[in-house]
Amino acid sequence: MTRSYNFSAGPGALPLEVLEEASKGLIEFTKGAGIQEISHRSPAFLEIRDSILSNLRQLMDIPKNYKILLCQGGATLQFTMVPMNLLKPNKKCDYLETGIWAEKAGEHARKIGDVNIIASSKGEKYTYIPKIWNIRPDTSYIHLTSNNTVYGTQIHEFPKNSNIPIVCDMSSDILSRSVDVSQFGLIYAGAQKNLGPSGVVVVIIREDLLDLVDDKTPDLLQYKKYIEYDSLYNTPPTFSFYVLDLVLKWVKNKGGVNYFENLNAEKAHLIYKEIDRSGFYKGSVVGEDRSLMNIVFHLPNKELTDRFVKEAEENNLVNLAGYRSVGGIRVSTYNAVTLEACKALSQFMRDFENKVG
Ligand SMILES: *Cc1c(COP(=O)(O)O)cnc(C)c1O
Repeated sequence: MTRSYNFSAGPGALPLEVLEEASKGLIEFTKGAGIQEISHRSPAFLEIRDSILSNLRQLMDIPKNYKILLCQGGATLQFTMVPMNLLKPNKKCDYLETGIWAEKAGEHARKIGDVNIIASSKGEKYTYIPKIWNIRPDTSYIHLTSNNTVYGTQIHEFPKNSNIPIVCDMSSDILSRSVDVSQFGLIYAGAQKNLGPSGVVVVIIREDLLDLVDDKTPDLLQYKKYIEYDSLYNTPPTFSFYVLDLVLKWVKNKGGVNYFENLNAEKAHLIYKEIDRSGFYKGSVVGEDRSLMNIVFHLPNKELTDRFVKEAEENNLVNLAGYRSVGGIRVSTYNAVTLEACKALSQFMRDFENKVG
């Protein structure tokens, strides 16, 4: 069996070392039983949960006054849990609209609170990150999406010393670069892009924001309950926890977030270099807002785009078609995508252009 170079946008590629280990754990994790077949209250499983929490704290240098919790329901449930837990009595919340996921976050919040869009690049097909924000001084929080997975834009600088809590959806770039957690009130990320398999969502929350929730809110929708029960209120997706733990150990062994920050810049540069070199491939995003995780570009027409995807596949470069409403090509270069994969793709881009361009 040969594994292809996989540029999937999500669920994304996982490190081969992690998959090999996980496939063993699936058959036997503790004596004679696989990871899926033991109690989530067993010491062996509690160790996994504790290891996730301590490795995340270490890797992201999370300050003491922040709690880490492991939720379910994808990043999408956070679109609802965030306003349910963080709205002040005036129910005001402000959103930066920079892509499909940012838009959805605002839509879900609208069912619960009074949503104001502080800026939007929708009119320009989300090709940039708006820098001037119309913030209400009495808003409960400001919601950002650090990396726009579909359009390939990324926020490269976050607000510093904001009095208003900054909430950030980091689903597609968590652990890809260092961030200063103390600049945020709450960070959340679905695991299936940069952290592991789907099924688990990491939430990092500043302690003082935990008590804003209405006690009548159902238990599983209150962040407080996850902390009270150490993220084991009910049976969690145990296999997802297990693989998340393996991924975090892998990140640590490789050299942590700084190692990946440098590697990811190098990987993305290989692809952007091909885009900038000739004009055959056209990047769709404003230079300064380019994402280092999802690189979106277009070929001269649909026929060439389809041919690019097909011939790439024949060369073991898979999952490159752009998002359905955007078209073109999308190259996702999450942590588990190797430098070797990006080199192979940049070579393919040159060869393809020489052949048809
Ligand atoms: C993929 C993605 C989501 C949606 O995640 P689900 O786990 O499917 O709910 C939300 N936000 C961002 C930035 C994403 O990339």
